[in-house]
Amino acid sequence: MKYALLADIHSNLEALTAVLEDIERRGSIEELWVLGDIVGYGPDPSECIKLLRSRKHIAVSGNHDVFCSGKMDARYLLNPEAATACLWTERVLSAEDIEYLKNLPEIVERDDFMLVHGSPRDPLWEYVMSLSVALINFDYFRSKYCLVGHSHMPLVFKLGEDGHCINLPLSESVGVVLGKHKMIINPGGVGQPRDGDPRASYAIYDSEAKVIRLHRVPYDIKLTQQKMVKRNLPVRLISRLEKGL
Ligand code: ZN
Repeated sequence: MKYALLADIHSNLEALTAVLEDIERRGSIEELWVLGDIVGYGPDPSECIKLLRSRKHIAVSGNHDVFCSGKMDARYLLNPEAATACLWTERVLSAEDIEYLKNLPEIVERDDFMLVHGSPRDPLWEYVMSLSVALINFDYFRSKYCLVGHSHMPLVFKLGEDGHCINLPLSESVGVVLGKHKMIINPGGVGQPRDGDPRASYAIYDSEAKVIRLHRVPYDIKLTQQKMVKRNLPVRLISRLEKGL
């Protein structure tokens, strides 16, 4: 079976549509596994929720999902531009969208995986970007592997037998082979990649081959940016899309 791993869609309908088309081109997928931050930043929150809900999927909640749905009232924890986009998002979401977002769990366990947005230790907030933070987090999940989002960067951390943590490469040319060692894996961001490559990022997990492969998909960034201008969303959020930062 194959599963598509999607993180940080962030209301970017063009990116989500391009990724779903790419997934379809590659053959049959059992289910989408969505790692939080479905909304926030981008111009099409309702449309992204609707499109996602039309597909078989499981999803966990991200920090933007809890704020934009009003589930948690602590927007001061976000930077000013993110908070502005969040307020706008909350205004345009339907009651049904808000209900959907509020009901997302923070943790889902599936097969050998635990799914969270941030980290196993702090599912909504913590970024797993360094070896030291990854190492601490290996104590916080019992499954073999943990899938995360939040940093919008494709990253893999592996816990070795000697108790040390190392990074493994994850790119379009180099997949990750799942073995006996614990791993924390981030498939990068769909709607606002931050690794310097503006193309949407996602991964496919093949449960028979025990491999996770990364895919990058170009999408109509200009169209997303034009919509953001029309909706008066912060300039920095608009310009960063073309840079992938
Ligand atoms: Zn995010």
